[in-house]
Amino acid sequence: MTAEARSIRHWLEQATRRLDAHSESPRLDAELLLAHCLQRDRSWLMAWPEHPLEPEMVDCFQALLRQRLEGQPVAYLLGEREFWSLSLAVTPATLVPRPETELLVETALEWLADRPAPRLLELGTGSGAIALALKKERADADITATDISPRALAVAAGNARRHRLDIRFLVSDWYAAIDGGAVFDLILSNPPYIAAGDPFLQRGDLPAEPQQALCSGPEGLEALRRIIAGAPGRLKSGGGLMLEHGYRQGDAVRGLLQAEGFERVHSLEDFSGLPRVSLGTKPGPVQGEVEIHRPPS
Ligand code: GLN
Repeated sequence: MTAEARSIRHWLEQATRRLDAHSESPRLDAELLLAHCLQRDRSWLMAWPEHPLEPEMVDCFQALLRQRLEGQPVAYLLGEREFWSLSLAVTPATLVPRPETELLVETALEWLADRPAPRLLELGTGSGAIALALKKERADADITATDISPRALAVAAGNARRHRLDIRFLVSDWYAAIDGGAVFDLILSNPPYIAAGDPFLQRGDLPAEPQQALCSGPEGLEALRRIIAGAPGRLKSGGGLMLEHGYRQGDAVRGLLQAEGFERVHSLEDFSGLPRVSLGTKPGPVQGEVEIHRPPS
């Protein structure tokens, strides 16, 4: 084999071609997997394209590539994914955090801007991404985060330890383990919201992710309904409920929030211009209320 045939460039190009039909980001996937084997970052690969790969590194790369071609998400193969500049452990017990979910974090931070020492409840935390991002920005917040999956919560708790962020984790089927009583300033969730049987569930990396974290009833609205119905009993007056949902569910979610008595109900668009987060306020006296509006794009 010539030196060129064994170079980083050679292996990356070959892997990119093989991944082309399987991934929306074949080159990036190949770079991330090879960088992981080499324990380097991607910029090192870019700087040393002629560098030959040792046989063990080729074996490592080919093994990861095989799993990627079988549909394993890159995040599971690397064991981590970045969210809100936090490197988070992820496993097949947790959904891979999505960049669009940062909208929920941004919206919550704006909403909380004038509220000191807020009490927050995040339902269905998975890897802990949302709760940890909020705690990182708001050390004064008292945050409870739940998940129905003890395995997911173990991952979230590990992430909290790794980043030294203090969150109360509870195994809970939505509100089941949360006492009634209006104590929270803000409840938020990125629940499962894809309709069972939606062909989208067969696409890309979704089949490898926990279906419990992705799909919810015939219209994808079961979890959203339960979360909205249970929120007024746990929110202080003037408290907020903030939900991520599918891009075609804005009308339905706003309708559910209004039917439950929420005020100032509106939706916000993600970076793709799709309605992605809806929120409302429980009626009652409020101090320092800020309304968040983003112009429609
Ligand atoms: N937005 C995710 C996706 O489309 C779904 C996440 C969820 O169900 N909460 O892949």
